[in-house]
Amino acid sequence: MNYEGQICRPPIEKSSFMLPVAVGCAYNLCTFCTLFKHLTYRLLPLEQVEAELQRVHALGGNPTQVFLGDGNAFGMDTERLLTILKKISHYFPNCKMVNMDATVTDILSKTDDELQALQKAGLRHLYLGIESGLEDILSFTKKDHDIAQAEHAIARIQSAGMIFDAHIMTGISGAGRGIENAEQLAVFFNRTKPKRVINFSLFLHEKAPLYQDILSKRFIPANELENLLEARKLIELLDVDNMQYDGFHDQVELRIWGTLPKDKQKMLERLDSYIDKYRDQELIYSFVPASSQSYYCK
Ligand code: SF4
Repeated sequence: MNYEGQICRPPIEKSSFMLPVAVGCAYNLCTFCTLFKHLTYRLLPLEQVEAELQRVHALGGNPTQVFLGDGNAFGMDTERLLTILKKISHYFPNCKMVNMDATVTDILSKTDDELQALQKAGLRHLYLGIESGLEDILSFTKKDHDIAQAEHAIARIQSAGMIFDAHIMTGISGAGRGIENAEQLAVFFNRTKPKRVINFSLFLHEKAPLYQDILSKRFIPANELENLLEARKLIELLDVDNMQYDGFHDQVELRIWGTLPKDKQKMLERLDSYIDKYRDQELIYSFVPASSQSYYCK
């Protein structure tokens, strides 16, 4: 299948079969994200989705995990999503779970019965772009939810038997506010209990609207040292049993990965070694030049 746009899925899902069911993002307004800004959102025809399943099946594909892309395909009509899930279990009877990204708003637009039907049809991990624990930052970056809405949506998918996973970005709260953000995120996660937290530390493309906010001084970016300190504070405060954390600080070539609480000490020590290394160095900021084709992945 010819893939349109950027393949974006949590690295933890790398062994899942990636099945596009839509192109682009239906929301597309978050100011830090350039992933789908060049695309107009549309659903892929069901015939095209089925043809891809047939193609992989004919090649002997037998995935046990499928990841549905792109952007926010969870927002599609529930009947259509159920049809896709049914086709997946038809072609891949050994598939144990189907996972995907979802927005808080799209979850809230579905009824409890719909959420339960989706879970029964095989939908399991939903990755939500939580991004920040601070209300003013959610609003400033044009996320389409506030903290209370996020908590409500998470409680509803969990009671339907689905699993909450979170995307966050250290650095999203800007210079001088990383620790405050980490503290509030820890409060949020200790209550909502995600299974996985993926931290794509802010890596801002110069075409992103948030970069314009930097140029106009409405947003002062945090440097990589601050982002490492923020990640450290968050990991230190997280108190969720058996939670996987996967953090990417690409600009300083660091990935912090582990299961909490058992790996906490090891993760903190690794972060400390990078914090010590960058404490006395010139400040580093994670920007992608406008000329680059690499897009920021939420
Ligand atoms: S962060 Fe997610 S919801 Fe926001 S514009 Fe990007 S893909 Fe869409």
